[in-house]
Amino acid sequence: MSENSDKPFLKACDIGFQYGVVPVVEDINFTVEKGEILGISGPSGSGKTTILRLVAGLEKADSGTIVMEGKIVSGEKIMVPPYQRGCSMVFQGFFLWPHMTVTKHLQFVLSKKKIKEKQQRIAEILNFVDLLGKKNCYPYELSGGEQQRLAIARAVIVSPDYLLLDEPFSNLDLKRRKKMLSLLTTLPTEEQTTILYVSHDLPELLKVADMILFLEENQQTFFGTTEEFVKTHKYGVEMNR
Ligand code: ADP
Repeated sequence: MSENSDKPFLKACDIGFQYGVVPVVEDINFTVEKGEILGISGPSGSGKTTILRLVAGLEKADSGTIVMEGKIVSGEKIMVPPYQRGCSMVFQGFFLWPHMTVTKHLQFVLSKKKIKEKQQRIAEILNFVDLLGKKNCYPYELSGGEQQRLAIARAVIVSPDYLLLDEPFSNLDLKRRKKMLSLLTTLPTEEQTTILYVSHDLPELLKVADMILFLEENQQTFFGTTEEFVKTHKYGVEMNR
């Protein structure tokens, strides 16, 4: 934790959300410092994706507050729109643009940068995700793993304040998954990126996360450091659902 722990980079206080009358998450509390990785895990349907959507501003919490860089972005009568929150998301479906080549995907999100700066950044990121050789391909010409790496490149290239990853590596083979995981901690972003990383694969998550949020039946059953989780949590490191 940084020295400035009274003002964490991202803070969720008593967050609650329901679809219609069905509660999805209740009393969620966590804090993340700038540049940290928060791993979010738990069984299917426990509300992991919903938490990412609440942080990104794609849903509004019914109760509680979300504070980003000291500013309330979600609270009673406050709802800062997604485009003002500095979040990039990689979803389980990649949501690529079928009419754009790999390079075009990246040029499009960098539209405000100068041409030379753009070219350099695109080459750097394509190299990072091992897609330089596919730069003129359309999504239908890419394998599932390549599509996933393009989705990751598109999210990372804008140097977001927050990178929200929803099971982002599920389509990658073990070797690539390991590479992406180790690179997660050294992302080539201009500023330190704070990462919220949802995964079922707890052993994998524990390798990269600084903090863990664990959910069960719509409630959080653990929030704390990864070391604390490994020491105290009943699932230990062997859980892999
Ligand atoms: P997880 O990511 O842990 O699998 P989700 O956050 O996707 O869980 O979903 C939590 C719960 O909310 C699940 O029971 C799911 O069925 C329900 N849910 C998700 N999206 C919707 C929706 N659009 N409408 C109604 N219920 C939903």
